[in-house]
Amino acid sequence: MRKKKRINYDVIIIGAGPAGLTAGIYCGRARLKTLILEKALVGGLATYTNEIENFPGFPEGTSGLDLMNLFQKQAKKFGVDFKLTDAKSVRLDITNKRVETFRNIFAAKTVIIATGGRPRITGAKNEENYLFDKGISFCATCDAAANTDKTVMVIGSGDAAIEEGMFLSKFAKKIIVSVIHNEGKMDCNEIAKTQALSNEKMDFKWNTMVDSFEGNGHLDTVVLKNLKSGELESIKIDTCFEFIGYLPNTELFENILDMDKQKYLITNEKMETNLPGVFACGDTRDKELKQISTAVGDGAVAGVEAEKFIAEAELFKNQILQKEKVGFIYLYSAIDAPSRELLPMMQEIETEFIDTVKLNTLDVYKGKSLCERLSCDAEPMTIFYTENGVVVEQSRNCDKPHIIAKLKSLI
Ligand SMILES: Cc1cc2nc3c(=O)[nH]c(=O)nc-3n(C[C@H](O)[C@H](O)[C@H](O)COP(=O)(O)OP(=O)(O)OC[C@H]3O[C@@H](n4cnc5c(N)ncnc54)[C@H](O)[C@@H]3O)c2cc1C
Repeated sequence: MRKKKRINYDVIIIGAGPAGLTAGIYCGRARLKTLILEKALVGGLATYTNEIENFPGFPEGTSGLDLMNLFQKQAKKFGVDFKLTDAKSVRLDITNKRVETFRNIFAAKTVIIATGGRPRITGAKNEENYLFDKGISFCATCDAAANTDKTVMVIGSGDAAIEEGMFLSKFAKKIIVSVIHNEGKMDCNEIAKTQALSNEKMDFKWNTMVDSFEGNGHLDTVVLKNLKSGELESIKIDTCFEFIGYLPNTELFENILDMDKQKYLITNEKMETNLPGVFACGDTRDKELKQISTAVGDGAVAGVEAEKFIAEAELFKNQILQKEKVGFIYLYSAIDAPSRELLPMMQEIETEFIDTVKLNTLDVYKGKSLCERLSCDAEPMTIFYTENGVVVEQSRNCDKPHIIAKLKSLI
């Protein structure tokens, strides 16, 4: 078997949906050597919709494909490389990040995960023929206006199904809701349930599930099966909205990254996962609103944070762990006066040992990830290390005589 070729990048982004493309634009513009891997269609889920009316900047609306082509063009303009291939496995250690595809091993300083998700489907007959723009929708926000004065069906009775159903009732003339449970039992919260049951436009079909989807090129009928009687009922509709869950594309990261119960990746506001230098953005992460605009925001944050991570890693290697002189780090916090006021004294000490000691001052408040690399979370603190980069003491003792004695012992 051919040996896989190893190619180095600064940043690898997995997934070329709106989140991954935006992260790519930011990384490319920051002159980072950036690769985006995409296993299906550049543009991701956004390309499945013809009419996007809620992405800012397009008052007349735009097609998902057109919008995503613009995103890709912009990323390419900033030198981002694209490879249409599946990321098959990942290694995400702090100093060794690799993404393996069928042909190559891509190594990178940071990895941004933008693998999005996919709506869960019913598995009923003919469903595959009518997905997305052929009559089965998964997004009320996206397709409600196109169903003004029409009859739609909603599948499901969880919070998403009922809340989206009520949103649809502002547009559609009738919303038929297929619920698997006995009359009156729903999976949503009580408030949504009460509101939905009193909504005159909503007609509930209890104890039902979809048996088949029918139409001629475009869906026009949903056949529901009554789970108690086995009876089939054909219902004419314009669009069927399925809200029976959403599955994040996170299988690759099982047992590597922290996930919630539904397998969404857990991040903080900086899109950081639990592993340093690994970011996640867009629909793949645990968040409230899954839309192009929020994926774009996430992608921008992830791109900027990836750039910061690389800059800090380089600073750490070249400045902090330099190997020419004995090393002395002073950790302080710019928002803590007593620790800040010790800075001039530290600089005096450096001047005294100018030929033999390298002082680095580090603001804990600004350089959180650098502090993590040094395993320090308190300030003020001093760290001493030899010319070979071996840490010999981490101490909260910031007295001048102690520091001078320590430095003398190391020179
Ligand atoms: C039918 C439909 C209509 C919608 N309409 C609208 C709308 O009008 N307005 C709006 O704002 N939002 C809309 N949305 C929601 C919007 O599309 C998503 O919120 C958005 O696309 C999320 O972007 P993302 O980049 O996080 O993920 P995605 O768009 O899902 O992109 C993820 C990409 O990662 C790729 N990928 C996954 N795993 C791998 C792997 N292992 N290797 C390589 N590549 C991988 C996937 O192939 C995919 O292309 C709609 C969604 C749907 C389903």
